[in-house]
This record gives sequence, C-alpha cells and structure tokens, in this order.
Amino acid sequence: MKTGATPALTADCNACMGICCVAPSFEKSAEFALTKPALTPCPHLNDKDRCKIYRNLDWHGFSACAKFDCKGAGQYLTQVVYPGKSWRDNPELKAAMAESYRRLRRVHDMLEIFTLAEALPLDEDQETARQAALSSLTPEDGWSEATLKQSEADGLFASLQEVLTTFRSAYARR
Ligand code: SF4
Ligand code: SF4
Repeated sequence: MKTGATPALTADCNACMGICCVAPSFEKSAEFALTKPALTPCPHLNDKDRCKIYRNLDWHGFSACAKFDCKGAGQYLTQVVYPGKSWRDNPELKAAMAESYRRLRRVHDMLEIFTLAEALPLDEDQETARQAALSSLTPEDGWSEATLKQSEADGLFASLQEVLTTFRSAYARR
C-alpha cells in the first residue's frame, strides 16, 4: 500500500487480519448475538481471519457487523503498520495492534471528514487548514505504532476536532 497519500477509505477485508473481529469487546444485544471480551477472536472468525457467516450476518443476529465499515483502517493496520505480522502469529502484539487499530479508526474517520469538506464553500484560511489537516493525517512514511501513539498523546485528534469547528461558517454558507 502506498503511504504518504490518502489511503483507501473503504474496508478491504481480504487485505486485513480481521482485527475488528478480535480487538473490541461486544455485549450481546439485538445487533450482536453474543458477548465477547476485548482481544478475543469472535467464534465465527475462521483460521484465515475471515467471517464464517458473512453471507448471513443479519440472519445470525449480527446486524452490527453487517453495517460496520472500518473505513480502511483494518487493511492499513495490516499492510502498513504491521506488515507480515498478525495477532494470531504474534500474540504478544495483540494489545498494541488493538490500540493502533483504535487510533487508526480515528485517523480514517478524520480523513473522510476532511476529504468530504472539500465540497464546502471554505474560505482561503479554512482550505489551508483543511490541507494541513489532511497532511497531518497522511505522514510521508506512513503511520507506525509509535507515531500513532505519539500523535494521540500530542493531541492531534483534539486539535483536528477544533479545526472542524472552524468550518461551521462554511456549513452555514452552503
Ligand atoms: S477491520 Fe476493516 S478491513 Fe479488517 S476485517 Fe474488519 S471491516 Fe474488514
Ligand atoms: S460475526 Fe463475523 S464479522 Fe462479526 S465479529 Fe464475528 S467473525 Fe467478525
């Protein structure tokens, strides 16, 4: 996967280690048919990291999975942040992978928002801020476990959220 450019913002499960089926905890509910602790593979995940019931998720009571899209964070995690590794073969990395995935989901959510903001009637300063935000979300060498962690600690997501609030005037001008 090319780094330094905006990555794909839709899930490619064939290029992913199935991290969304492992990292989060789930409570049994109308949308998810069982309770699963964090860092534990869903029992419907096969040993190739594919969902055994993906054709019939709604029927099996997993509508949350049917609706879910990681916006490309899963395959980025697999291909760029941990190339050649998986939670299955490297269980000592599982917790760190889950944290990187959580942070990458924020990155990809923000990338989508700042990309879509191109359609707004932004003034020059707002467009400059939008471009800067996109740059900060697409580091030249790609994200790593360390840079994801450091950027969150440095307040990247909070600062980008503040940038978004400055776009309100453009929303009003639509
Ligand atoms: S994390 Fe994303 S790409 Fe990976 S299996 Fe889940 S939805 Fe698919
Ligand atoms: S039901 Fe399938 S898609 Fe949903 S968490 Fe389990 S393995 Fe993943």
